[in-house]
Amino acid sequence: MIVILKPGAPEQDVRALCGQFQAQGLSIHESTGEHTRLLGLIGDTSRVDVDSVLASPIVEAVRRVSEPYKKANRKFHPADTVVEVAGRKIGGGHFAVMAGPCSVESEAQIVEVARGVQAAGAAFLRGGAFKPRTSPYSFQGMRAEGLALLRRARAATGLPIVTEIMNTEHIPLFSDVDMIQVGARNMQNFELLKELGRLKTPILLKRGLSSTIEEFLMSAEYIMSEGNENVILCERGIRTFEPSTRNTLDISAVPMLKSKTHLPVIVDPSHAAGIAWMVEPLALAAVAAGADGLMIEVHNDPAHAKSDGAQSLTPAQFAGVMDKVRKSVEFFRGL
Ligand code: PEP
Ligand code: MN
Repeated sequence: MIVILKPGAPEQDVRALCGQFQAQGLSIHESTGEHTRLLGLIGDTSRVDVDSVLASPIVEAVRRVSEPYKKANRKFHPADTVVEVAGRKIGGGHFAVMAGPCSVESEAQIVEVARGVQAAGAAFLRGGAFKPRTSPYSFQGMRAEGLALLRRARAATGLPIVTEIMNTEHIPLFSDVDMIQVGARNMQNFELLKELGRLKTPILLKRGLSSTIEEFLMSAEYIMSEGNENVILCERGIRTFEPSTRNTLDISAVPMLKSKTHLPVIVDPSHAAGIAWMVEPLALAAVAAGADGLMIEVHNDPAHAKSDGAQSLTPAQFAGVMDKVRKSVEFFRGL
């Protein structure tokens, strides 16, 4: 981190500021040019609060030269992290697909979809029990009952389950969930992230609707800094000025994230596009960009789905996408 001092900063104030940094375990490399005086802070600056340094009257500007995240940083952990859930691996060359309905709606629905996605090669069953809806008048999910139905679908198929949590108070209800999803709207619910960091359950962290890559990685850092290093990142589209798709899939986030972090990165083309026919091309683009997996919404009757029907594939359509995904994974591995 580089601290640029204001011209004419009184020496005793500079010494006091240096003392504060040294007390934080940092060493200081000073350099004085014709017009500027700089302090180069050497050591772990992840705990230095840039805003409070800027609050000093002798500081002109502060520049970070290293990333503020450590545990998620590939620099300190060059090898890919492989997350293993119920014998299924994601990351480090292991590609996995999570599929299922946006919302769990009934036992018959979730079991039928689970069987369909399993037959097509999905490794995990996804399904929302607690749903973060834009309108309080929309279907809010079956909540605890939905979790019970997911357990039944797991028992019927053996597929591990991934489902979204919205509230720290619900953590006990999720004790036997195989992978806990943090949705886009909660990516910066820091209290929730910290609590989930104290569990061992792998966490699927979705990118916030308007979050930068650095903010996304800092949210992963919140979970990891509490001890849970089993985090999978999910790019699910971001808000842009373009209204023809629900979001804009930030495909460049995939290679960018993979260069910055060792954590597995998956893509959700369903929420990115909001349109069923676009799921296939975006899924294939994700594979080409180096994603470690996909999350895809599948419903047995999309026209009557209680949420996100327009972006949901039928099990038959999903099977067609999976065929192409498998071939693409093989093709890009061979390059
Ligand atoms: C979901 O996966 O069902 C969901 C609500 O996604 P997101 O948080 O990405 O909007
Ligand atoms: Mn959905």
